[in-house]
Amino acid sequence: MLEELKKEMVGLLQELPKNNLVCLTSGNVSARDTQSGLVVIKPSGVPYDQLDASKLVVLTIDGKVVEGNYKPSSDTASHLYIYQNRSDVNGIVHTHSMYATVFAALGKNIPVLITETAEEFGGEIPCAGFVLIGDSEIGKQVVKYGEHSNVVLLKKHGVFTFAVSPRKAVDLAILAENSAHIAWLVLQAGTPEGIGDEEIKALYYRQQNIYGQ
Ligand code: 13P
Repeated sequence: MLEELKKEMVGLLQELPKNNLVCLTSGNVSARDTQSGLVVIKPSGVPYDQLDASKLVVLTIDGKVVEGNYKPSSDTASHLYIYQNRSDVNGIVHTHSMYATVFAALGKNIPVLITETAEEFGGEIPCAGFVLIGDSEIGKQVVKYGEHSNVVLLKKHGVFTFAVSPRKAVDLAILAENSAHIAWLVLQAGTPEGIGDEEIKALYYRQQNIYGQ
């Protein structure tokens, strides 16, 4: 079932190692099928180069497996919590991308030091609290801290992104790591000025409404 969506998911999962956002089997992606409401998620602990459509798991939004022979991602309950609480979200990505996770380990937000961060995120990327993996606690933190940001750092853990599509959620994971990497280097090199709230607003508006074709 959901062959098209699974094919897209396999391609998006490969983007995580390709962009150096994950190591070995860390990280995961899920997508909600907008027609049926079913959720497709990565199987737990399977290396990225061994992932294909047949290994993905399909679940109902309340966690009943409807297709798949593999155990779903350890973060499944959290992905489902986010879908249950955000009807606008159809794709979720989790990574341990290096520089974003450095900020997460410090419990610090990623600051707006360059235009790209303002354009893509419209403000600082917030860092949520520390919770254990396995149930919906991570999802609760993401929903709580993600009211004004589609990217949330999980303290001492990593990054969650969520968006209207899984493609957009992957893009946000790539962009968040780029912002974190640059911010980290900037903070080692000097004391940046940062960008003011009004300018952040204008940059974000332009990127979201005017930029591109
Ligand atoms: P899974 O392989 O179970 O998705 O776990 C990866 C991970 O990063 C959990 O936080």
